[in-house]
Amino acid sequence: MIARRVMGVPEERSQRDWIAAICSVIAHLLVLISLAVWSVGIGWVGDSITILSGQSDSEELGDLELAPNPSESEQLEEDSNPSLPNEGLIPGMIIAELKAEASDLPANQSIIEIPSDLKLPPGGGTSGFVESSLDGRTKENRKRLALEQGGSPQSEEAVERALDYLARHQFNDGSWSLGFSKVCDDQCEERAANRMDSARTAATGLALLCFLGAGKTEQDEQYGTHVSKAIYFLEQTFKRDSATGYWVGTESTAQMYEHGIATLALCEALQMQPSEQLRETCQLAINFIVEAQFRDGGWDYHPGSPGDLSVAAWQVMALKSAFSAKLRVPQRTISAVDRFLEKSRGGEFMYRYRDRKPTASMTAIGNLIQIFRGRSREARSISMAVEYLGERGPSNDDLYYNYYATQLMFQYGGPPWKAWNYKMRDYLVRTQEIQGHAAGSWWFEGDYSNDVGGRLYTTCMSCLILEVYYRYLPVYTKPTEDFQF
Ligand SMILES: [Zn+2]
Repeated sequence: MIARRVMGVPEERSQRDWIAAICSVIAHLLVLISLAVWSVGIGWVGDSITILSGQSDSEELGDLELAPNPSESEQLEEDSNPSLPNEGLIPGMIIAELKAEASDLPANQSIIEIPSDLKLPPGGGTSGFVESSLDGRTKENRKRLALEQGGSPQSEEAVERALDYLARHQFNDGSWSLGFSKVCDDQCEERAANRMDSARTAATGLALLCFLGAGKTEQDEQYGTHVSKAIYFLEQTFKRDSATGYWVGTESTAQMYEHGIATLALCEALQMQPSEQLRETCQLAINFIVEAQFRDGGWDYHPGSPGDLSVAAWQVMALKSAFSAKLRVPQRTISAVDRFLEKSRGGEFMYRYRDRKPTASMTAIGNLIQIFRGRSREARSISMAVEYLGERGPSNDDLYYNYYATQLMFQYGGPPWKAWNYKMRDYLVRTQEIQGHAAGSWWFEGDYSNDVGGRLYTTCMSCLILEVYYRYLPVYTKPTEDFQF
């Protein structure tokens, strides 16, 4: 095609075309080479190519285990044509920053250091997440796994009571609200510092996660209607255009928290009860997360500012769930998460919130994401984190810490998990409200999140903790030791 075009034109124009053609060939060759190298570890950042170095970090090499194969054709198609964010919904400043970042990068500089003990999906590349199946949630599997993995008949009863509480406190439109008990005329003596009707999107996402975590879908006899109404509420309040969509804008003080939680809930619903409409909504919500990612690879309360690990965790969990649901999740987005994790390190195994001192909560989050990205169970940082959190133990009032630490300990398994689980499980069984309108709920004095989130938030986090045995199957193949009761 190039030759024909060149041969049929005057000499002067022909020379120009030759130059253009050579440039075009070089450009295409670069694309082809980049695609080839991609299979052994290349990632996109912004609209520039960066080679992912194999630089080893200070940790010991663990065994490389095979991770599930991502939907490679989709990934390849997505990544071979990286594009800047859609300009419709995200402030132009993000686009400008991404462009600036891309142009600032020296062509030969590796800016992403991939930890040497990350598992690579078959076929190469560093895209994707390790599969943690939702199959444990089915009725038969749930019962079996609850007992095999450390739950007890009492903890399962507590989950059922929590679902009953949530069902009784759902608004007619299908939503829930944080810090607000008008739905039951304050019969539960809501003690939240923030008694305003707030964060409907996040509250609905959290409650929906509890039902889904226990295997309750729209088909469920007991709670099918509640699940259906919750999904309907999120679908109806979703503001969409052709390329992306969102629930709340900057009027919400925690816009990306709300968005990440709701997206995670809907992506889990999609995995459990596929539908084309839900798939489209989920993809648009994921597109928003992709576009809202800051250039440091993280997310903050609102798009456009440097990320913090707490907000980022919800986005990463949503991306992970979307990946499992075979939605389009760009490789560059996932690669940038690795970069953000490295930035958030506050030592060999600890993590921190922004540039503050490392904390136990952030350490649980950081290491859990590392596991879902494929880090080996034998990695020194993982075992050190598990040892640290094990010595510290569950908190009496910090449900946020408990939620992530419990997941990390569960994924790690073995004696550390066993020790953690007994304390965590029995504490929650013991502290659940069992009388009155608040029966099935939790509320702990002393933690800021409980004050702001109220009974609804505390109940959802506690319920999700008690669903840990079957909510996500263990990533590592090594079975947890049998539990004896
Ligand atoms: Zn009530």
